[in-house]
Amino acid sequence: MYEEVLTTEDFSTICRTCLIQYDAETLLDIQGIYLLSGEVKLMDILMKYTTIEESETYPQHICTHCLVRTEEAYTFFEKCNESNAILSQITESVIKEMETEDRVDVSNLRAKVKTKQSLKL
Ligand SMILES: [Zn+2]
Repeated sequence: MYEEVLTTEDFSTICRTCLIQYDAETLLDIQGIYLLSGEVKLMDILMKYTTIEESETYPQHICTHCLVRTEEAYTFFEKCNESNAILSQITESVIKEMETEDRVDVSNLRAKVKTKQSLKL
């Protein structure tokens, strides 16, 4: 759809991530933005979680809507990774316990994980 109406002449007035056209002054420079109180570079997030790469020939701006979406998505995915790491630690500790007890029982593993989660969280 977009490729039918957009040309390279529009690149200075469209958002790199949604391709919506805005007044140039409402768009932000995609290279100079840091999110989460300046901790993470926008382009690093986009390159980590999308197929977007740095390119001088593509649009160099982003709209404020996409900026908010990017920060929310980044926060969500980082939370997922953090939660997964916690789950992995819990599971590993249970497996180590079971190895010392010389028992391998999946139903027992589930019960222990549930108990540990309810104690910790
Ligand atoms: Zn946008």
